[in-house]
Amino acid sequence: MSAAGGPPVVIVGAGLAAWTTARELRKLDAAVPIQLVTRDNGDFYAKPTLSNAFGQKRSPDQLVTTAAAAMAQNLGVTLCADTMVTSMDTAAQTLTVEHGGKSEDLPYRQLVLATGAHPIRIPMQGDAAQAVQSVNHLDDFRRLHAELTALPPSTDGQPHAVLVIGGGLIGCEFANDLLQAGYAVHVVDPASGPLAALLPAAAAEQLRQALQDLGVVWHWGVTVQTLQAATTGAHRYVGTLSDGTSVEADAVLSAVGLRADTALAAQAGLACARGVLVDAHLQTSASGVFALGDCAQYASAGGRTLPYVMPIMNAARALAATLAGTPTALVFPLMPVAVKTPALPITVAAPHPDTQGVWTQDPATEGLLEGGAWRFVDADGAQRGFVLTGKQCSKRMEWSKATAP
Ligand SMILES: Cc1cc2nc3c(=O)[nH]c(=O)nc-3n(C[C@H](O)[C@H](O)[C@H](O)COP(=O)(O)OP(=O)(O)OC[C@H]3O[C@@H](n4cnc5c(N)ncnc54)[C@H](O)[C@@H]3O)c2cc1C
Repeated sequence: MSAAGGPPVVIVGAGLAAWTTARELRKLDAAVPIQLVTRDNGDFYAKPTLSNAFGQKRSPDQLVTTAAAAMAQNLGVTLCADTMVTSMDTAAQTLTVEHGGKSEDLPYRQLVLATGAHPIRIPMQGDAAQAVQSVNHLDDFRRLHAELTALPPSTDGQPHAVLVIGGGLIGCEFANDLLQAGYAVHVVDPASGPLAALLPAAAAEQLRQALQDLGVVWHWGVTVQTLQAATTGAHRYVGTLSDGTSVEADAVLSAVGLRADTALAAQAGLACARGVLVDAHLQTSASGVFALGDCAQYASAGGRTLPYVMPIMNAARALAATLAGTPTALVFPLMPVAVKTPALPITVAAPHPDTQGVWTQDPATEGLLEGGAWRFVDADGAQRGFVLTGKQCSKRMEWSKATAP
């Protein structure tokens, strides 16, 4: 246990990475002062619930599992909410923060960056281009929820429509959720099928079919070029696709991916690439400054970013031990991701993108309507990843044991 005096351990952010690090550190050290600085209000929510909340008729407020003040009290953390960290000085071990128009310097003993990621925005023309929304935070979901729930009843008896840009994991989850909530859904993507970066083609085809059966209108191999306010018809916007097709919608959701938020780190001269570079102990290129979560690019993951829940839980435990005085190298276990598409549940343990190998379907699942199983085998014959769909998802444990992380 450390001395209670002196500057605190400062954690920047109030997402899963920040709060989990605070919780794990507090378990190991009851006395160390911990200060959490975040530009949002600090309320704790599970971000994965954002893409299945419409179907469950859950309001944004209902997604908050613990209010910020209660989190801070339970964990003995000093919370600086609505406070932007604008710069940091790693030599002087201080942060500059802005709150309510005032700027001040905060000292730290150790610093943890848990600044998350930004949704990528693709350029678009048209007078309604600014109406495109992205959801990577509860506040974003609040805006989308407000837009959809404020729509007047449709004039043509047809459901309100949402145009989803991006047929990856988040786009497909929202498509499934919005359909379940009664919206018509169009999905546009330049790829040839859903989750193209993650799934073997046959598994992607199962998902494409399952969501189409539910009502998704797919637009593959195209992009949205312009978005205009509609002047006629029953919907608010008209999107024009690169093949000339027009798509009418009442809201437009962009889900084309995330980019790690490295702004603070890069400005302070820390080494960054696709994320803030961290070594096996989660330390950045500056001594005493650590990073984890969606903002980090992990040496322990072969130089990957891993924007998922399980990597954060593992990273936060290792980091807390290091912060508490027991240097602990992060070793990631295999961390399959469950894709929340109830039309066809999917579990993916993706191989490292640099791994050479092939996907093959488990022959026992060929032709089964209730789902399939695929393994990714490397050049040495080792299983390095897998995909399970439908009822085969129940074999997650068994397949995880057979897969080298
Ligand atoms: C819709 C959706 C569904 C998902 N579903 C799943 C799923 O099913 N399974 C799964 O494993 N993963 C899922 N994910 C991914 C997972 O939720 C994220 O990996 C995780 O929540 C990221 O947490 P984080 O703390 O790293 O980042 P964030 O939650 O983005 O937190 C970043 C924090 O940093 C603060 N911040 C940033 N810059 C500053 C600054 N300069 N000053 C002060 N504060 C700052 C922000 O306000 C915020 O509080 C999903 C993601 C989304 C968007």
